[in-house]
Formats: sequence, C-alpha cells, structure tokens
Amino acid sequence: MKLRVEGRREIAAGVHLLALRRGFDFRPGQIIGLSLDGSVPFRWYSIASGTEDGYIEVVFDVVPDGALTPHLARAEEGDELLVAGPTGEFAEAETEADGSASATAAAEACVSAGAGGIWIATGTGIAPFRSMASSGLGPRNILVHGARAAGGFFFSDEFAALMGERYVRCASREGSPGLYPGRISAWLRGRDRLEADRRYLLCGGTDMVVDIRDILISRGVPWANVLSEIYF
Ligand SMILES: Cc1cc2nc3c(=O)[nH]c(=O)nc-3n(C[C@H](O)[C@H](O)[C@H](O)COP(=O)(O)OP(=O)(O)OC[C@H]3O[C@@H](n4cnc5c(N)ncnc54)[C@H](O)[C@@H]3O)c2cc1C
Repeated sequence: MKLRVEGRREIAAGVHLLALRRGFDFRPGQIIGLSLDGSVPFRWYSIASGTEDGYIEVVFDVVPDGALTPHLARAEEGDELLVAGPTGEFAEAETEADGSASATAAAEACVSAGAGGIWIATGTGIAPFRSMASSGLGPRNILVHGARAAGGFFFSDEFAALMGERYVRCASREGSPGLYPGRISAWLRGRDRLEADRRYLLCGGTDMVVDIRDILISRGVPWANVLSEIYF
C-alpha cells in the first residue's frame, strides 16, 4: 500500500522520526516495511507510535551510504511511501508464552504476578517500547535504554512521564546526573539478582542483543523468558 508522509523531523543528529498516515491497525512490537517505489527492497522498521495515535511513526538512523535511509531523511509532508505489513511477533511471543489472548492481557498477567518485565534497548531499538508504553502495556515494566550520551535517549521526556523511576538510561560515554554511567551490560551485572521469572525483551543491534542474552542466560534466566528483536 502507499501511505502519505504526514511529517518528518530530525530528533537527534542523523536520527529521524517519520510520521505516516494511519492506514491500518497494528499491535505494539510490530514492524512495517518501507520503500520508495519498489526499486529498492523493503527495509523494516519497528512501529514507534501507540495503537491509539493518529499516525504511524517510525524512528530511523540515517546510514549515509544506505539505499533507503538517505532518501527517507529528505521525505516531506505529502510525499508517498510504499508500505508493507504490519507484521512481526515481538510482542506476540510474549503473549503466546503467557497463553494470553492479547498483548495487553500478557502485560496484565505480568502485573498480577507482581513482577513487570524488563525492556532493554539501544539506539533506535527504543521504538517498539515507545509503542508498547504509549499503548498502555507494561505498567510495571522497567525500561533500560543504552546510548553513548544524553542526546541518544530519544523520547526521554515521554518515558520519564510514563515510567518515572522505572526508566533507566545507561550512557556509555558520558556521566551526567540522572544517567547510569556505563553500558547496559554493566547495569545488569550490578544488580544483585536477575529475576528468572521476569520477561526480558531486547531490541537493537546484534552485538547488544547477543551480549545481554549471554548475561541473562548465565545468571539463570531461562531462554523462554528472553525475547529479541534484532536490527540488521
Ligand atoms: C526486524 C527489523 C526491524 C528494524 N527496525 C529498525 C528501526 O526501527 N529503526 C532503524 O533505524 N532501523 C531498523 N532496522 C534496520 C533497517 O531495516 C535498515 O537496515 C536500515 O535502516 C538501513 O537501511 P538502508 O537501506 O539505508 O541501508 P542499507 O543499504 O540496507 O545498508 C547499508 C549498510 O549499512 C549497514 N547498516 C544497516 N543499518 C545500519 C545502522 N543502523 N547503522 C549503521 N550501519 C547500518 C548495513 O549492514 C549495510 O552494510 C530494522 C531491521 C530489522 C531486521
């Protein structure tokens, strides 16, 4: 399908938030494919907006020599993009494991068990968690976002308002008040206990996902409780 671009803005150096006309329903955690005109195969992006929002939003890094993102970074209101999906099972995997009927029910199951899940992201991997949080999922979940410095914590005002103390920012190259000084891996290693019965959702680049998964498994978290969405 073709969808109209409703807006685009650069939210950090080389990182853009793109809003598309709302052309379909989706579940938090799903992805869509974007292409200009079919001449370049679809590239996939996590939906970053909530299920009740008026637009479909994605957040992307510009890859300077990339086939698609330099063009997306010049998209203007009124342009049209080819869109595929929505598809993907990031949140559904959580749902199936709980045997619940919907992602919302899965989140409620976590809450009733008294322990929220842990959402872990680096960079633009924050996108599906913005969709989940702004759709009302994970009211007791902890969100851990990793970036090099303060400017990399996209949507931090929104997350701070929605999640308060349950929102943790790990800055690997900058120490500032309110930021954990180090990588997500250090933050995790510093916790006395990694609860095995919590659900850990990881989203971002391959290196981060593999590192964090290794830490979780080595600390006794079962495979079934570690769900990953890898951007490659
Ligand atoms: C399930 C899934 C979800 C994804 N969701 C997102 C998302 O929400 N936001 C997002 O920004 N990307 C996301 N991606 C990555 C995205 O699909 C594209 O790969 C990326 O935007 C590059 O597209 P391109 O056509 O500009 O570059 P390409 O022409 O595909 O790539 C050019 C080169 O850059 C490398 N590259 C790809 N991505 C990056 C990067 N981020 N930084 C540095 N080098 C890179 C490629 O490996 C390749 O060597 C996702 C990927 C998958 C598989």
